[in-house]
Amino acid sequence: MIHKNFKNIDKVIYGRGSFSQLAETIAPTRIENNNYFVYVIDNYFKGKELSEKIQNEPSDLIYFIDVDPCEPTTELIDDLRNEILLKKGLPSGVVGIGGGSIMDIAKALSLMLTNEGSSALYQGLNLIQKAGVYHLGIPTISGTGAEVSMTAVLTGPEKKLGLKCDWTVFNQVILDPELIASVPKDWWFYTGMDTYIHCIESHNGIRNNAFSLAYGDQALKLCREVYLNDSAGQTSENDDILMVASLMGGLSLTYSEVGVCHALSYGLSKILGTRHCFANCIIFQHLGDIYPQGHSEFIKMMAKHNIKLPQGLSKNWNNETLNKMAMVSYNLPFMWNHALGNNFKEIATLDYIKNLFKRL
Ligand code: NAD
Ligand code: ZN
Repeated sequence: MIHKNFKNIDKVIYGRGSFSQLAETIAPTRIENNNYFVYVIDNYFKGKELSEKIQNEPSDLIYFIDVDPCEPTTELIDDLRNEILLKKGLPSGVVGIGGGSIMDIAKALSLMLTNEGSSALYQGLNLIQKAGVYHLGIPTISGTGAEVSMTAVLTGPEKKLGLKCDWTVFNQVILDPELIASVPKDWWFYTGMDTYIHCIESHNGIRNNAFSLAYGDQALKLCREVYLNDSAGQTSENDDILMVASLMGGLSLTYSEVGVCHALSYGLSKILGTRHCFANCIIFQHLGDIYPQGHSEFIKMMAKHNIKLPQGLSKNWNNETLNKMAMVSYNLPFMWNHALGNNFKEIATLDYIKNLFKRL
């Protein structure tokens, strides 16, 4: 058995107001390359207070990127990389400010500034040839764990798959809970539940171990404080907790694996474009037999926050759509293996997976 050699984030700043430390944090890196920084910022923040607080240098390039309705594509990364290199050559680093989509854009851009050709060539594990430039992530929604993961998920012409290697991981993250206060309530729920589901799936499978359990147990405890206990709700105290839960949930799954919900979620997102965290919630509500304990808590949390999820979706899917979705999920054997055990191939057949999709 080969044990994972997990590359963690180099440095983390955590705390309310820590966003104001951005300029001083990147200052020493400005001696690198052509002495300027690229900022990729969620378009939501254009004209808002946050964008005035960046304290960038005049030579820096700032891009506001609209992440609605599409998740990041290889084309977006390639075009951005080409434009930046043409304009000013290699930057000292990339700063990403936004949700999981922007975290992935910042990570992928950092890598593609130094690796030639289209990013579609590098979708997969350890295909990147050279280290990227310095990159720093500032999450503004908590849940996906993209701030800590070793992958930058992109939708390419053929597949939705991450650029996955040690160099993908951020050199620095700044976790400022003030930045997630404006997240709409439904997204606060869906993205937080991504963390919750990461932990449930990481725990319930053959690849869990003391390392992943320690992070996952702590992240679950924090999720219960935010979504289930008497003090639950979208408050500033809970935002402080949720940011840490997201990071720890990410660490838990990195050293274990996700399971059935994520395997199905990739199918739903790839074929119908449903956003990752929302797709997970739509699916997890139907997995009571597979994850009984996690499911019953999830249903309680939904009720507590008056969350209504779409029902009866599969009625509108024809056989071709179901087949395509099932195929995407089927091709994630490491998730099925973790969740169902070593005889997973006998259980997770295409028909079995199609039947799971029919529950939605
Ligand atoms: P997102 O980045 O897609 O953003 C969702 C919405 O929230 C957008 O409309 C955005 O503009 C808005 N938003 C962001 N911050 C806000 C704020 N503070 N206030 C108000 N609105 C705000 O959201 P996400 O769910 O965090 O990320 C999903 C993406 O993450 C997908 O592309 C998925 O593929 C990727 N992902 C990556 C990993 C990884 O490990 N790299 C893991 C899971 C998912
Ligand atoms: Zn997830």
